Amino acid sequence: MSQLASAPYVVVGAGMHGLSTAYHLAVALRERSLGSGRDVLVLDKAQPGAGATGIACGVVRNNYFQPAMAELMQACVEVWESDPAAYHYNPVGYIALGPKAQEADLVSVHERHERIGYRSELVVGEAEVDAHMRALFPDWRAQGVTVCLHEQEGGFAFNLESVQGLVSKCEAEGVRILGETEVTGFEEATDGSIVAVETSSGSVAVGEQVVVAPGPWAQRFWSLLGMPERIDITTPSGEVVRDQPMWRYWNLQEGEIQVDPLSYATADGGAPPVVHIDTDAPLYTDDGRLVTDELWGNYFKRDRHGVQGGAAPIPVDGDVELDPYPSTTNVDPTFADMWCASLSHAMKRFEGCRSLYKEARSGGVGSFTADNFPVFDYLRPNLYAILDSNHGYKMIGVGKEVTEVVLGGHSSLLYPFRYERFTTGDLHPVSNSPYPWS
Ligand SMILES: Cc1cc2nc3c(=O)[nH]c(=O)nc-3n(C[C@H](O)[C@H](O)[C@H](O)COP(=O)(O)OP(=O)(O)OC[C@H]3O[C@@H](n4cnc5c(N)ncnc54)[C@H](O)[C@@H]3O)c2cc1C
Repeated sequence: MSQLASAPYVVVGAGMHGLSTAYHLAVALRERSLGSGRDVLVLDKAQPGAGATGIACGVVRNNYFQPAMAELMQACVEVWESDPAAYHYNPVGYIALGPKAQEADLVSVHERHERIGYRSELVVGEAEVDAHMRALFPDWRAQGVTVCLHEQEGGFAFNLESVQGLVSKCEAEGVRILGETEVTGFEEATDGSIVAVETSSGSVAVGEQVVVAPGPWAQRFWSLLGMPERIDITTPSGEVVRDQPMWRYWNLQEGEIQVDPLSYATADGGAPPVVHIDTDAPLYTDDGRLVTDELWGNYFKRDRHGVQGGAAPIPVDGDVELDPYPSTTNVDPTFADMWCASLSHAMKRFEGCRSLYKEARSGGVGSFTADNFPVFDYLRPNLYAILDSNHGYKMIGVGKEVTEVVLGGHSSLLYPFRYERFTTGDLHPVSNSPYPWS
């Protein structure tokens, strides 16, 4: 640790946010003649991509009902598009399909897309949606879907490959990335500023600022910094909801079927967009068993060795042992049946795919805030926290915005995610989606 005993900027966590921050900070320091990537030290208790970023399905989309999320996501998509090769980004687009109850939400998302110049197409009406989907996939057969928002931007990226792309960009700028170094505490000055980061390998003096981006370990850092476990939340109407848990865990359920990836293509043989369906049509397995007659949802994409996707996550009661990550608890044993049935419900080509379900490295635990939206804010005068509430593989642009803030500027894109919103009542609007991240 001796050669690392100090650094102007210390970034904790080598996932999407930590690496993107380190890279954009390094570029900004060089371009503004303020220093270089040598001034940035990234610490990770394992190695780059060891957290949620390395297990993410990798979906990049802008189907967000909340104006602030939509605007931030547009900036993120621009970063993905800036270097698709390095980020292993596949701009195949993204399709969100919903039942009647979601029509108004998707209409307003589309209106916002139009306002901010994000390319998407809205299709409304069961027959119209069916025709749109059959033009892409002639064997389309999903029921109960009356609205479709087809994003021409967005798509997906390969998780560990994109991490490697960011690592290479960091290294090319001279950023030092130190694995197997666990942050165990912070040494504070009397005004609360962080003067040193304590690690399993010794102490690192901080010259300027610390950025923490701990992913699912957010709650650990929250308590390390003495932040409150329970908070009072002021709603937009002014009502105060007292003593709410600041954090909770959810289990993300994801899986894969092993098929020839090229068998999942559009009618013209092209790469298929990522598809997300929510519907209240009854869901049956291929052998006729009812899985559910309530609202259900799934998402799926073409992967390297088949088709990968997931379904609605499951909230977890209480604390979770996160290590070794990806940790999962309470995974629904019927997930594989449900997800395969949902694929078959969507397209005939997936009929019988249950036997192709593969036990793979998919799924994991995520940390969610009290309102399920990120907290991007200073928690100490010189400690900025990127706590993304599990929205964030797609949020590759957050590190670029954080760089502006860390270097003394302002980010109007990050401002709506300040911690203070829970006391001022500036909460984000809530959609009709069953997912905590829509
Ligand atoms: C199964 C799953 C699927 C997902 N799919 C998608 C998706 O398709 N699209 C999307 O946009 N988002 C998705 N997400 C969410 C997304 O993966 C996360 O929001 C995002 O990756 C978080 O990035 P991060 O950099 O904050 O955290 P991480 O990638 O988790 O990185 C945190 C790093 O901090 C390190 N660390 C933790 N504690 C310490 C410590 N004490 N000292 C030093 N280092 C420490 C860890 O080792 C880790 O490498 C998914 C999440 C899961 C779990």
